[in-house]
Amino acid sequence: MPDTSRHDLLSLPPDALRAELARHFQSRGQPSYRAGQVERWIFEALAPSPAEMTDLPGVERDAIAENFSFAEASEANVARSADGTVKHVWRLVDGELVESVLIPRGERLTLCLSSQAGCAMGCTFCATGWGGFDRQLSAGEIVTQYRASRRWAEANGYGPITNIVYMGMGEPLANRAAVHASLTLLNQGYAVGARRITVSTVGVVPGILELAARPEQFRLALSLHAPVSHLRRELIPLEKRYPLPDVLDALRAFDEAGGKRITFEYTMIDGINDALELIGPLAELSLPVRAFVNLIPYNPIPYQDWRPSPAGRIRAFAEGLERRGVAVAVRETRGRDIDAACGQLRAHTLVQLEKSPAET
Ligand code: SAH
Ligand code: SF4
Repeated sequence: MPDTSRHDLLSLPPDALRAELARHFQSRGQPSYRAGQVERWIFEALAPSPAEMTDLPGVERDAIAENFSFAEASEANVARSADGTVKHVWRLVDGELVESVLIPRGERLTLCLSSQAGCAMGCTFCATGWGGFDRQLSAGEIVTQYRASRRWAEANGYGPITNIVYMGMGEPLANRAAVHASLTLLNQGYAVGARRITVSTVGVVPGILELAARPEQFRLALSLHAPVSHLRRELIPLEKRYPLPDVLDALRAFDEAGGKRITFEYTMIDGINDALELIGPLAELSLPVRAFVNLIPYNPIPYQDWRPSPAGRIRAFAEGLERRGVAVAVRETRGRDIDAACGQLRAHTLVQLEKSPAET
């Protein structure tokens, strides 16, 4: 685990950061505007360390580095797909590895970030699920993926990051304190509009209710993957703890909170969850909460002998949903040539790192 004895400058939401810095500079007899200087270095200039805060006297930069930690990630691996998708593996200060993905599409640049190292949910179609849970990420370790990706995008001609999705490794609503703080940081600190940030969950009911209670209009994606409990249970073990009817109640609360958009993610696996009889139940779940349905071809993983549904089947599903009045889109899989299926690049990096001492 990272150092928790000192406040981490990247983890503190703006109000708490301001208060901590004010206290710090006051105790050192420094003028109060120093706190604002540090804040601008963090949120606007994305300074990679206190040493870069060059309008502070050297002794004050040293004092910041001594009194606070700074959980900035470094690049462990980067892979660029022929379609422009970029996958990063970041090394955190304790050596833990997490991944994020940049996905360009027209004027948009979407960052997909991780909320945990690994995942404890064990969904049977997901590479991260098979890899198991390592540890929680702090708010700073979530936000550092955004900071480092933004720096990388600027340096490599990708332009500004316009959208953020919590769809990398981990279940965000199983790491709620850090994820809530990271949402506040991205929105208030780094000025990313709430409606441009989507939290994806496999259905953690108390977490959905907490998100519904927030005043900001963060978006929610539910990884649905099956519209009936007995089938969903086969894919998503959490269905036993939070069955679909309870998840739907929570989604209604989210929808009724107003101005908040819900998306259903539906990964289509040949012969598993793509029977045409499932279109009716899926429409019945979607319409009351006005959910937008994303149909995604399953991305094969090494642990399962499954294939994506054929294109014709996916089209038939989409048309059936449209006929029933559901808003639906078919998503192409991006970055296949760089193992963009969640969890895979990290696995490869681990193998490479394990190999490297023997090779040298
Ligand atoms: N834990 C959260 C967010 C991370 S997973 C969640 O499950 O929602 C991000 C998305 O990738 C989820 O919708 C998940 O269902 C999907 N996914 C995981 N493995 C996949 C695979 N092999 N093929 C296609 N989509 C996959
Ligand atoms: Fe975890 Fe999401 Fe993968 Fe399920 S799909 S194992 S919740 S990362």
